Amino acid sequence: MESSTRTAILSNPIEYLKGVGPQRGELLRKEVNIHTFRDLMNYFPFRYVDRTKVEKIISLHAQMDFVQIRGRITRIETVGEKRAKRLVATLRDDTGEIPLVWFQGHQWMEKSLQLHAVYLVFGRLSVFNGYLQMSHPEMDLATEETATGKATLEPVYSTTEKLKARGLSAKAIGKLTKNLLEQLSPHEIPENIPLPVLQQYRLMDRAKSFFKIHFPASEDDAAQARRRLKFEELFLAQIRICRLKIRRQAASHGFLFTSVGDTFNTFYNEHLPFALTGAQKRVLREIRQDTATGRQMNRLVQGDVGSGKTMVALLTMLLAIDNGFQACLMAPTEILSQQHYKGIAEFLEKMDIRVALLTGNVKGKARKQILKDTEEGKIHILIGTHALLENQVVFHNLGLAIVDEQHRFGVAQRARLWQKNTMPPHILVMTATPIPRTLAMTVYGDLDVSVIDELPPGRKPITTVHRTEWQRPSVMNFIKDEIKKGRQAYIVYPLIEDSETLDYENLMKGYEEVKAFFPEPQYYISMVHGKQPLDLKDANMQRFVTGDTQIMVATTVIEVGVNVPNASVMVIESTERFGLSQLHQLRGRVGRGAEQSYCILMTGNKLGADSKERINVMVQTNDGFIISEKDMELRGPGDIEGTRQSGILDLKLADIVADKAILEAARASAEKILQEDPDLALPENQPLQRYLAVQQGKSQWSKIS
Ligand code: ADP
Ligand code: MG
Repeated sequence: MESSTRTAILSNPIEYLKGVGPQRGELLRKEVNIHTFRDLMNYFPFRYVDRTKVEKIISLHAQMDFVQIRGRITRIETVGEKRAKRLVATLRDDTGEIPLVWFQGHQWMEKSLQLHAVYLVFGRLSVFNGYLQMSHPEMDLATEETATGKATLEPVYSTTEKLKARGLSAKAIGKLTKNLLEQLSPHEIPENIPLPVLQQYRLMDRAKSFFKIHFPASEDDAAQARRRLKFEELFLAQIRICRLKIRRQAASHGFLFTSVGDTFNTFYNEHLPFALTGAQKRVLREIRQDTATGRQMNRLVQGDVGSGKTMVALLTMLLAIDNGFQACLMAPTEILSQQHYKGIAEFLEKMDIRVALLTGNVKGKARKQILKDTEEGKIHILIGTHALLENQVVFHNLGLAIVDEQHRFGVAQRARLWQKNTMPPHILVMTATPIPRTLAMTVYGDLDVSVIDELPPGRKPITTVHRTEWQRPSVMNFIKDEIKKGRQAYIVYPLIEDSETLDYENLMKGYEEVKAFFPEPQYYISMVHGKQPLDLKDANMQRFVTGDTQIMVATTVIEVGVNVPNASVMVIESTERFGLSQLHQLRGRVGRGAEQSYCILMTGNKLGADSKERINVMVQTNDGFIISEKDMELRGPGDIEGTRQSGILDLKLADIVADKAILEAARASAEKILQEDPDLALPENQPLQRYLAVQQGKSQWSKIS
């Protein structure tokens, strides 16, 4: 009992901490999401300042940022008028002097500063009128103890203007944290990593690491604490993921797809428009194995743009139908759902299979009918957006759920598909965004993975070039040549975040420019953007698909979905503004036919180093896996599309790029432990078991309340 009341201290609401109170408590909740004592303990400093060092004034220079100096105040004066009024104190040590300046609170400062006293001064250097000064420094009267500076590293916490206005500066947050940690005994921060793992990786113990991450005695101390807490974070995540996988594999009964029947065979033998690639066949075999075991399939299919994932999806759905089940296919956008619907309906034209489309735009009577027919089992294949997840969508007998472009859906959404039948349906997840291995480990750790690593035959690698503004006329002439050969071209403009109007203007300007180069009636142009009504968008798209227009001017709405094999040129405007994965996706819109295709990356004449690097990667490789690794390196995993929503990447400390080695160690430890002791029954695993039990209890409580 004693220990549970003790650990409960950390669950106390933050306002009960001495020095906080209701008003500051409210602010801490709102501004930095600190609700409890535990949250504060987990609010880590983002850096430390070395207060052990004291600089000589003569050695100061503008590049030093924060410094600590020690000296005597030799003069205090108020200068300037009215709003420009400020307090200037001169600090002198045995090497020189420097002005300390206060713009705010100068009256109070004037009263409290002691002329001729010796101070330890800490602050940021700036340059004013060519001279170094320090504004609003921290002032401590020098004592014996501070003669050579303060003896520790001082934590720096991020704070906000609102918090500061309530006296919660970075320094004040540090004081609260110190206050909290001093109240806690190590029992309140119980260990959760088994001892053998701690020893193998020489990890600091848990309680100590919380003290040391906030108040380290040295840089090394801080680094060790940080390493331990990063390991813990990744280790616990991996334990959760691996357990999910083990549990699924052990307990999950899945529907048996025993027979390859009429539907599949008829389609395969009579209507399949092309021979499958070796990779498509292999993935299908893997799927057949999964669905024949009596376990629930949870498989991720990774395949670069154009690798033919849709056909794999379709054949799997036919397999489900052959075994008496319904199937559904969920896509992230309206356009993509429509395209899937049209494409699949077309493939199945000559077959007796009912396919329906359900999105947010299907309303009224039509919607009711689809819902009814789905429930009665009259619809065999239901395609749609996340509208499929809604509770109203009830299946007669769903045996297979396919999720396209999974990276846009979270794990929680995926789990909702499981509820759509008494026994969870088989799940197939498809993504064209190749995922770096470390990320896959984290985001898709609970899935089995298949890779379609082969493009359909006859595709020529896309030639990618970089062109700058002054080469525009030759780019336009190149497009003319391609059109003369009967090809079509895309010209894509970026979406400028937060400014739809600017986007629109940008696009319109581009459209006018393109029109000037390509006048009617020799040329026709389609324009598509996100703000168009759906039917207009569709009509414009359709005209391009049928070849009535030769040029498609668009924003990134065309990124997913459009499939026009005759298009051979992709011009990307303001390439600087796109991320690597997005560029790769866009480029994947061409090179879908047998003709040589081109991707032209347009930029201004001047380029930053980062943009240059991205463009080089694009020019050098067509390999989506290489591009995704590079993308993650350049932008960090948080920006890789979809990983944020997935929730599983909510890492506070660890960074799966920089901390790859820790992640791999954590993964290996988690796997080993669960392999040897799946129920965590061994004595050495008790710390972990107890910790997880408490966590579990907490999340159940939060569900009830
Ligand atoms: P993605 O993997 O990007 O979803 P799609 O499934 O849209 O790719 O396929 C891209 C194009 O390649 C489509 O036009 C599709 O019909 C075609 N395709 C798929 N598989 C093959 C194949 N084995 N041989 C020839 N063309 C194929
Ligand atoms: Mg696709």
